[in-house]
Amino acid sequence: MDGQGTSGAAEPSGGAAEPSGGVAEPSGGAAGLSGGVAGPEALRPLVDEVLAGLAAGARRRGGPIVPGTPAEVAAAVREALAEARGPAALRRLAELLAYGAADPADPHCAAHLHCPPLAVAVAADLAVSALNPSQDSWDQAPAATALESELLAELAESVGFRPDRAAGVLTTGGTESNLMGLMLARDQRLGPDVELNGLPGNVRPRILASEAAHFSVQRAAALLGLGERAVRTVPVDRQLRMDPAALADAFAEAGWEGATTLAVVATAGTTDTGAVDPLHAVADLAARHGAWLHVDAAYGGGALFSERLAPLLDGIDRADSVSLDWHKLGWQPAAAGVFLAREARTYASLARRAVYLNPADDEEAGYPSLLGQSLRTTRRPDAFKLAATLRVLGRDGLGALVDRCHENALRAAELVRTTPELELHCDPVLTTVVFRYAVPDPAGSDRVNAGLRRELLRTGRAVVGRTELPGHGPGRVRLKLTLLNPHTTEAELASLISAVVEAGKAQPGARGTARPAT
Ligand SMILES: *Cc1c(COP(=O)(O)O)cnc(C)c1O
Repeated sequence: MDGQGTSGAAEPSGGAAEPSGGVAEPSGGAAGLSGGVAGPEALRPLVDEVLAGLAAGARRRGGPIVPGTPAEVAAAVREALAEARGPAALRRLAELLAYGAADPADPHCAAHLHCPPLAVAVAADLAVSALNPSQDSWDQAPAATALESELLAELAESVGFRPDRAAGVLTTGGTESNLMGLMLARDQRLGPDVELNGLPGNVRPRILASEAAHFSVQRAAALLGLGERAVRTVPVDRQLRMDPAALADAFAEAGWEGATTLAVVATAGTTDTGAVDPLHAVADLAARHGAWLHVDAAYGGGALFSERLAPLLDGIDRADSVSLDWHKLGWQPAAAGVFLAREARTYASLARRAVYLNPADDEEAGYPSLLGQSLRTTRRPDAFKLAATLRVLGRDGLGALVDRCHENALRAAELVRTTPELELHCDPVLTTVVFRYAVPDPAGSDRVNAGLRRELLRTGRAVVGRTELPGHGPGRVRLKLTLLNPHTTEAELASLISAVVEAGKAQPGARGTARPAT
């Protein structure tokens, strides 16, 4: 972390030239395979190379993110690609990737819902990569097929669904899970064969979601042929929780226009503040109006493992469908999304028969098929790393990590509250702290906060988030710490906050610095 840009990337990394000689030639040489009895021995020296590259790259970076501008980083990448050749290329490129990373394992990297993966989950994922099972047919993934079904039953139980009635699938994340929830909603309410252009003029499909709901809701509406404008946004309170009275108004208004509200999306853990919409109130309204309830718990789902925080998700069992993301508050390498539907029968519109994947006579003979659970065909067993993590750490072990991150958010909020230059937006709910460097003039405040964040990125000192509160006009830019590193200490939080304050003070127009005379 020397703030010297990417100059270091220009030199051949120390020692990267020799190790090629040290790589044993496995059977097949550079084209050796990872599977079979010989696979592990073919992998071992290569994994050692990767690990050596990761360690060297992290050492050289020395901080949360590669310092320098995007152009400097791109130049370092081009140079490494041009130079790396032969067996040494693997180590050189692994080193480049680590040097050029924003590494959430560093306590000063805390911008996004970008978690530092657990080593155990990554090791489990190596097994998946080595064997490459694909979940689109049983004969490509016999044990993985059964394992995904077992894990989904466990997770269904965690959200309060009946595992014998629920259905689900591993997804690429909240974006895909939200699309699936809204697709089932559309097909349940309008029928799977509906021709959207052919709806009677008085039927106008609507989706209701809060102003703080994830943008993938609008994108899903567009992909489903409903149009982005089918999503009506419902106002939120200061914490970014949906206002249930405003939701009731939105339903009433939809009625006047002859609109059909297909679905309500409740967010359990908004991306910015971690706020949880009032699930029971939203479920009551959805039930009264016959709308599908999708709960987007991509962020908040991790709270299910924490005894202390699980009550925040009370009412999630009333959802028709749920999104969970274990590559957020679950410490899995991406992708580790989960989609669950409370009733398997609502899944019918995804069912597919492909004669070469799930012939009917195979199914009659007892060969299960997950093909009809997913929008994808080829699909890696992302359930495996989570199942392994849950066995090694236990639910309590994961819950303890959630609690530590939550405690860190409370500590960081207290530090912000007691730092005169900073202003806390609201108390943390899960693991996120939203605040700003306080400057009285709204436009000046936006400039200072945006500028200080880029300054921290450029120097490689810290990666903090930047967002805007809902509404219009200047003064809405906020900084955000998304604290997903359970091992971050109080001292590390304090030094992160000081880095923000120092960068703020250095911005032109910040309070306490010389301002142009007016
Ligand atoms: C992150 C997030 C998503 C999108 O999930 P991906 O895994 O990035 O596709 C959806 N909803 C919420 C609330 C999120 O925080």
